[in-house]
Amino acid sequence: MSLPPSLWAELAPPAPACPPLEGETQADLVIIGAGFLGLSTALHAAQAGLDVRLLEAAQPGFGASGRNTGFVVPSLKSGLGPAETRALLGDTHADRLLRLVAGSGDAVFDLIAQHGIKAAATRSGWLQPGHSAEAEKRLLLRLPDLRDSGVDAAFLDRDEMRARTGLPGLHGGLRVASGGQLNPLAYARGLARAVIAAGARVHGETAVTAMTPQGKGWRVTSAKGQIDARQVLLTTNAMVGVLCPRMRQSIIPVKVYQVATQPLPAEIRARLLPDGAPVADTRRHTFALRWSEDHRLLTGGMALPLPGRAHRARRRFIARIAGFAPDLPPLEAEYLWSGTIAATLDALPRMIRLEPGLYGAIGCNGRGVALATALGRAIAGLMSGRTAEADFPLPVTPPRVVPFSRLSGLGPYLWLPWSELRDHIDAHPNRKANT
Ligand SMILES: Cc1cc2nc3c(=O)[nH]c(=O)nc-3n(C[C@H](O)[C@H](O)[C@H](O)COP(=O)(O)OP(=O)(O)OC[C@H]3O[C@@H](n4cnc5c(N)ncnc54)[C@H](O)[C@@H]3O)c2cc1C
Repeated sequence: MSLPPSLWAELAPPAPACPPLEGETQADLVIIGAGFLGLSTALHAAQAGLDVRLLEAAQPGFGASGRNTGFVVPSLKSGLGPAETRALLGDTHADRLLRLVAGSGDAVFDLIAQHGIKAAATRSGWLQPGHSAEAEKRLLLRLPDLRDSGVDAAFLDRDEMRARTGLPGLHGGLRVASGGQLNPLAYARGLARAVIAAGARVHGETAVTAMTPQGKGWRVTSAKGQIDARQVLLTTNAMVGVLCPRMRQSIIPVKVYQVATQPLPAEIRARLLPDGAPVADTRRHTFALRWSEDHRLLTGGMALPLPGRAHRARRRFIARIAGFAPDLPPLEAEYLWSGTIAATLDALPRMIRLEPGLYGAIGCNGRGVALATALGRAIAGLMSGRTAEADFPLPVTPPRVVPFSRLSGLGPYLWLPWSELRDHIDAHPNRKANT
């Protein structure tokens, strides 16, 4: 399976050789799915001394990991601050997860430095402006709690935020210094090289078709091979398909488009996001903007599944950039691609025990560049026995099926118009009062 065309596919260095699995073999740990989560777990588990095989249906970075916006965001979804996380997880797990998230930007940039990964990565900080005066206030109130949990966040007032972004409609908000941006496909391919160098085997073009109990572990089967392993971990994210219905039913798949404009001149780069820090606001349907390494603007979002969807997404997201940054020349979407996010109802990731020795991790909710990297390191601790389940940052639970999971794919399309209306009302409160 080849990667769909995207800006990242154009710019990333080639993938390392990952020959398909053939014949019968054994391993300590089999990981299914070579996105950031599978790659990071494989790397850290191999470094901990496990004999690891990473099996990927296509090639490393084929899923959301090679198709995202490349924001390195040391934070959970914007509605999930420390207080909300504690209310959902309880203090013990919440404190551990918040610490993991606070260090997740460093986890990415440290790996890149350690393994010499060429991924156009910049630790430029990450900006989160409010989309309304109310949202700005909420971010300011959240600041002390974020700092207590280890996040290196600072508050920028409206004028500072506008000066840092060149975007006149934004409110004040947060700057998290350990965030930044990268080319996500290049990062995934660089991680795959690091995994191989650490002694694990990565098999591309190896779709796993079955997992069956075998002795004290599991037999994992693909078209041309099989592996017996003590432990198996599914990191198939939203692409889990028919392999494991219980994992599929535990998330809501959300299709998200990305557009990249034509390259823009230095004069515009000097006034729009001038320090190169990516920006993502607090809107429910987030407005996000960044520069690519070849000087294009990137943004994206969801589009309703109506006829001409891709064409409408192209026009809509270009118009969205122009709406936020009015003084730009006419923009064209030279690239358009899409990927699928695995969302959970509470926006928290899940560590799932399907059966003894058979695990799944899923639900990075659009925050997986940093979160999946850091979570992979923690999961490797669990798989190698260095971390006890009781000390893991998330509760290890059976899968929690999303209610009406067969219809859950429709949920985001009911959510979208409602959310955009609420975002609009938030951003124009006086207009609401006058109508
Ligand atoms: C458009 C878009 C924009 C995003 N922007 C950002 C962002 O800017 N910042 C951020 O932090 N997060 C972002 N995200 C979220 C982030 O990309 C994901 O959270 C992260 O990539 C998930 O990584 P993963 O390893 O869990 O899954 P994936 O990268 O989806 O990997 C799953 C892999 O499993 C493989 N697989 C599936 N079934 C099988 C099988 N049976 N056998 C073998 N292999 C199999 C797939 O081929 C795939 O490669 C975005 C997501 C999307 C879609």
